[in-house]
Amino acid sequence: MAANEPGQPDLNAGDGPTRDLPVPGVALAIGAHPDDVEFGCGATLAKWAAGGCVVHHLVCTDGSKGSWDPSSDVSALVVTRQDEQRAAAKALGATGTVTFLGEIDGELEVTLALRGAVAEVIRRVRPEVVLGHDPWKRYRLHPDHRAAGFLTCDGIVAARDPHFFPEQGLAPHRPSALLLWEADEVNHVEDVTATVDAKLAALEAHASQFESTMGAVDEDGLVAFRQRMRQRLAQHGERIGVDAAEVFAAMLDL
Ligand SMILES: [Zn+2]
Repeated sequence: MAANEPGQPDLNAGDGPTRDLPVPGVALAIGAHPDDVEFGCGATLAKWAAGGCVVHHLVCTDGSKGSWDPSSDVSALVVTRQDEQRAAAKALGATGTVTFLGEIDGELEVTLALRGAVAEVIRRVRPEVVLGHDPWKRYRLHPDHRAAGFLTCDGIVAARDPHFFPEQGLAPHRPSALLLWEADEVNHVEDVTATVDAKLAALEAHASQFESTMGAVDEDGLVAFRQRMRQRLAQHGERIGVDAAEVFAAMLDL
């Protein structure tokens, strides 16, 4: 945990949220769809990448439902969304891998096979911090976000224990922290004042999603989207007295 400046309340004591993990050497963010990582933790990843962290992405589905146009070419959309995801990772400054599990968008399930696939990526990239969807978020509608959250948690348990999936032939790996975004109960805050622009640039790399996800059909819509995002980050920042923050449910004993 970062030390608090003199005169600041000690947020790591008592009931307040913890803040600002030390910059990890390696981080892995696991999203259900292309763009989820950027929405959930893009500014935190950009901050860490700037501090020397190798940032990896793992995207569980192919994003093939990411269009409201019934006549759109689904296979072309999948390719577009992979390109957009790679561009978004670059915009964050990420230098690690971008892995796609390729499950059908909307049909992600918490299976043993997929738990193994997530564990395998964790064992390969060996992240100190894993980030993902909070599967316990109440009243969450989208099944892929729930499933990706559970796969993230279950994948960590499998990755750290040598008796899970020994056929992978990989050394077990235990991350030191898990940060869950869209947190049902926030207990950790990352100051992202310096990387709001990087998060927005990464989100805007997902250009195929302007209409369906960002509600932006034209330049005015995009300006409004940017404003909404900045407002949300600023609201989170108020929790710890900074200009912008991303918030999480942190699990620090894995
Ligand atoms: Zn999503």
